[in-house]
This record gives sequence, structure tokens and C-alpha cells, in this order.
Amino acid sequence: MNPVATAILIIVLVGTFAYSASKRWKLMFIGGNDLPTDNLGARFNKMLKFAIGQGRMPRYRWVGIAHILIYVGGVVMGLRALILFARGFVDDPNFGFWIFDQGENGTLLGNAYVLVKDILVIAVLLGVATFFYVRLKGGMKRMTVGLEGYVVLTIITLLMLTDVLYDGASVALAGHSSMWEPLGSALASMLEGKSEEELATLQKVGFFGHITLILLFLNYLPYCKQFHEITSFPNVFFSRIGPVGKLPTTEDIEGRLEREEPLGVAKIDHFGAKALMDFYTCTECGRCTDQCPANMTGKLLSPKQLTMDLRDFAYQHQDALISSTNGGASSNGDESNESCAAHEVDLVPGVIKPEVLWACTTCGACEQECPVFISYVDKIVDMRRYLVQEKAEFPAELQNMFRGLETNSNPWSFPASDRAAWAKGLDVPFMADNPEADVLFWVGCSASYDDRARKIARATASLLKKANVNFAILGEEEQCTGDPARRAGNEFLFQMLAQMNAETLNNYKPKTIVTSCPHCFNTLAHEYPDFDAAFDVVHHSVFLSKLVKEGKLQPKNTINKKVAYHDSCYLGRYNDVYEPPRETLRSIPGLKVLEPAETRDRGMCCGAGGAQMFKEEEEGGDRVNIRRTEQLLATKPDTIASSCPFCQRMLIDGLAAKDATNVGQMDIAELLWQSVEPAAQAQGAPPSPLGNGAD
Ligand code: SF4
Ligand code: SF4
Repeated sequence: MNPVATAILIIVLVGTFAYSASKRWKLMFIGGNDLPTDNLGARFNKMLKFAIGQGRMPRYRWVGIAHILIYVGGVVMGLRALILFARGFVDDPNFGFWIFDQGENGTLLGNAYVLVKDILVIAVLLGVATFFYVRLKGGMKRMTVGLEGYVVLTIITLLMLTDVLYDGASVALAGHSSMWEPLGSALASMLEGKSEEELATLQKVGFFGHITLILLFLNYLPYCKQFHEITSFPNVFFSRIGPVGKLPTTEDIEGRLEREEPLGVAKIDHFGAKALMDFYTCTECGRCTDQCPANMTGKLLSPKQLTMDLRDFAYQHQDALISSTNGGASSNGDESNESCAAHEVDLVPGVIKPEVLWACTTCGACEQECPVFISYVDKIVDMRRYLVQEKAEFPAELQNMFRGLETNSNPWSFPASDRAAWAKGLDVPFMADNPEADVLFWVGCSASYDDRARKIARATASLLKKANVNFAILGEEEQCTGDPARRAGNEFLFQMLAQMNAETLNNYKPKTIVTSCPHCFNTLAHEYPDFDAAFDVVHHSVFLSKLVKEGKLQPKNTINKKVAYHDSCYLGRYNDVYEPPRETLRSIPGLKVLEPAETRDRGMCCGAGGAQMFKEEEEGGDRVNIRRTEQLLATKPDTIASSCPFCQRMLIDGLAAKDATNVGQMDIAELLWQSVEPAAQAQGAPPSPLGNGAD
């Protein structure tokens, strides 16, 4: 077409892009390289499914489909871009690297490719029109509607139009249309009557317009949210593989203290390369914030905004941060001062307000939604870790929980000697007396001490006995797993408890651990292996549904109740346990399971996780547990069922706040026990563990 002009465009605009990209690259490593290199096969598959395959987009129906259309069109147009750049150097409008040559002397593949490309041009324009429509009518609440979005949509539209213009003028110049080029042929017929000179000019406008736009768009990427078009692939590749609910363990706390290394994240360069890549990759779609229970109920926390604020801070101080990472801070002059300033800014409260961090329930809804697998819980807990362990700045109520865990190994400071009081009259053996038990029933603090939750422990133990399971409990030897301390940022305290529990567990080496608390389950199953305590851990919902299937438990007593089931975040989203609790409920004759509109992986948090149970909720419109209770009450249930003692407490409080005195709240184990043991429902007498479902 014009080798000199093409070469100048490529050299100048690829050069400027390389400059911008190199800055972003250096910025990404200011906190060190923590990009994981394990599980390469699994990582590749994840990237294939979710980045290349757009695996999470179908969750968003027509907007998701519009995105897929633009994405697929973009991928196919990528090859077209290469072909067009090459045509800048060879004066042949049919050139396609021989394999993709088009026209009468072209290959079948080349011609078929042009046909597919034309179809996708229409698909992309439809996708773009959808997003223009969404934005022009005010956008979705979750989206950031600004000039940037319009600029990107306009560039994509112009890219498509210049491509068609180039094809149309080329077809008109060749003098005959082609079934392989429907768009070019259609435009060519509209250009009939134009002189050869005019057609050649239009061809050049289409060609140079298209390749210039590609290069300008490339230069715009590092400065806008479309950067995800490059970074989303590595971001998904390097995202977490393995248990969703596992938090990273701070290695060698004592040594870090001695070396005066931070215990958590305080400054922007305490984040590693993966976190920075997360920041680059945010598409600002707002799907995370849309599902965040804290944001939904009016708290300051918006996960999207958290990412954008941290990203904008890093971008704003890019040169200074890079320069001081490379030793620039020691040089004189303004830049050095700015370098120091950017490095020294405490992210909380300098960039993020503390209320934002303390509103998080660690429910994982944001991470479940994010199409590009940006993580939140680890970053929020990392920032909490610094506040708690180095600055002692945290909500005052958490002090009671920390003290209780330090002194009595439970968050409420109840005497350790009362830990097994819930089992009074049930004749439950201790591991010390029955070390060969097949199952260790890990009771957890809530079911050990909370009067209402104790009934869950009693129901579970009664069911295990009824099924003739050889089980035992630890009694006083059991201590809090440390989950609330860890989620609150007190990693030191968590590790202390984890080490003590790990020692106890390794002493008995139980074949299976069954627990009725999803928080204990998540921590024991996924976090204790870091402390050399790897065991088979099963949530009671899974264990009980198995006992029912094996016929060892026979629910025969009819319970004519409509029961709305609430998914615990730590059981459902974190561990993908959705069916077993429902199966257990469905096994009960007469019982009808109701599903709220917000269910399973879109189920709303009860508001207890992330140590919220032990503090006042941050200021905002509604309480999370009340909003969740309202969602469950919308199904018009007789009872709300759950499989977590924390959820139970929050929902009971929610029912009381809604004055729903006619609706009960029960754990699945309690309902199952009522059905398995008729006397339990009829009399509620010992050894029945059950009350009437209300507190
Ligand atoms: S984990 Fe839950 S509460 Fe925390 S930011 Fe994500 S959605 Fe919001
Ligand atoms: S973090 Fe993910 S879900 Fe949230 S706005 Fe960014 S891309 Fe969207």
C-alpha cells in the first residue's frame, strides 16, 4: 500500500506503546515478583476456560453476550490486523500470508476467513450498539459510565467501519463482487460510479484509518480500563489455584519482626506483582460491587472502588515509585522527594478509609463474580493485618474477641472447662478415652458455648450416635481454630491457635474430622495443612447426607414445613457445598425446600463472617442480616434452615428484627434429628437436642 508510511506508523506508535508498557511493567514489580509458577497445567486450563473462553460472561445474559460478540470479533480481527499491516508493504489487496490469501487466486481458508470476519464485524457492531444503548440510557448501577467508555466504543466502531470501507473500495477497484466478502461487496455496489482515483483514495482512507486506529488504541490501553484486553489473560493464569477460602500464611512472623519487615500491607509497594496486575486488569464493570453485601446495605465498601483507588494511586505515582524502587529515592531533587512520599503513604487511611476495610464480611461474593479473577479478601485481610499487628488500630469490640482467644481459646472468654457442657446427658466420648474413634466431631466455639447453637451440637452428636458412628470429641483439648482472629487481621494470634490445635490433632491423628461449622471446616481443611495438620475434614451437611444415603439414618417422621435454605458463604462459595444440605432436607418426608431468588453462589452473606460477628456493623443503611432475612422471608417459609451456627445467630436476630415470630430457624441437623427420632419432635425431652426452632 505504502511501505514508508506504514513503517513510520508502526515504528513511532509501537515505540510509544513500548515505552508506556515498559513503565507499567516496572511498576508491577515495585513490591517484588510473587507471580506463582506452580500448577502450570491447571493454570493454563483456567485461562483457557475463563479468559480465552470468557467462562463467566454467560452469568450476565445479554450484556455478557454482547461482550462475547465483541471479544470474538476482536480475536478474529487480530489476524486481520496482521494481514493489513503486511499489506502496507506489499501492494496486493488479496495478500494474506499465502495461507489466508483471498480473491479468485486465494485459498479456501483465506476466503472463508474473510466471510467469517464480515459476519463478526456485524456481531461486533451489534455488541457495541448494546453497550452504547446501556450507557446512553444511564448505564447499569454497577458500571462506571464516563467518557472513557464512549471513547473505547467509538474507536471499536470506527475500526469496523474503516475495515469495511477498505474492503468495499478494494472490491470496487477489482471490478467484481464476491460471495466471500458480503460487506465489501455491498459497499462496492454503493460506490458504483466513483472514479478509480476516488476509489483508490477511499481504499487508502480505509486502510490507513484502520491501522492507525489500531495503533492509537494500543497506545491508549495502558491508560484506560481496556488494559484488561492485554492483562486479563496473564491475570487469570496467575490467579489462585486451589481452595478459594485459603488465606496466605505469613511465614516466619518472629523473624519478620526482628528484621522489621511489615506484617501485612501498609504501603503500595508491599503489594506484590500479582496484586498490581489485578489493579491493571479491573474492567470497572462493577459486578463485584453489585454483589457485595456491605455495599448493598449502604456501607462505604465498594470492592470495585477499592481496586480503582489503589490502581489510581499507583498510576499517579508511577515514575516516583519506579525511581525509588531502583534507588532513585537516595538521589537529590524533587523526584526523590516525591518518591519518598509515595513510598511512605499509609494506604489506610491515605488511600482507603478504615471503614471500607472493616465492612468486609469476607463472603467472597465479589471474587465469585469477577470475570477476570481479581481477588479481594486476601488484600483486605493483608491491610487489616498491618493495622492490627503493627498499629493496633481496629474496632474496639474486636479487643474482647482477641482477649478471649488469647486467654480462654474462645472468642467470648468462657471457661475452657465448659467447652463440652453442651453434651451433658448425651454420653459423648472424648478422644482421650477413645483415641481410635473413626470420627472426631470438631464442635467449634459457637456450638460449644452459644445456648442456641449448642442444640446443633446435640443434634449432630445424637445423629452420629443413632447411625452408630464411632466418634469422639476433644472437649477441653479443642480450641478455637483461630478463623475470626485471622480474618480480623490478627495473624499472629491465629498462628498461635493453629499450632496448638495442630499439635493436638497430630497427637490423635483422626481418620476423619466432622464439623458443623463452615468456618472451622474451611480453616481445618485448607489452612491447617500449612501447620502440618492435613486431615480428611468433612462438613456435617456432607456427612449426614451420606449417612442418609447409606440408610444409616432414616428420616421417617413427617415434617410438614416449607423451609427456605440459606447458603453459608464459607460452605457454598468457598467450598462448593450446595447440594448435600439440600439433599438432607429433601430426605425428610413432607418437608418442602424453598429457594430465595438470591441463592447458591449468588446467595447473600448473613453478615457474620470476617469477624463481623464480634464487632458492630460499620455505619450504613441496613444491617446485612436483616436484608438477608428479608430475602429469605420473601419465599414465605415456615422455617429458615442453615448449616452454620454463625448464620443461625444472624438469621435469628434478623427474624426478631422483622418481628417474624411465626417463622422458625433451625440447622439442618436439628431438622433431620426431628425426622429421624420421632420422640424428638413430640416431646423435646432428653436426649432430644431440639427446641422449637425459635430462640
Ligand atoms: S468479600 Fe464480600 S463483603 Fe468483602 S468486598 Fe467482597 S463481596 Fe464485599
Ligand atoms: S474487580 Fe472484577 S468484577 Fe469488580 S469491577 Fe473490576 S473487573 Fe469488574
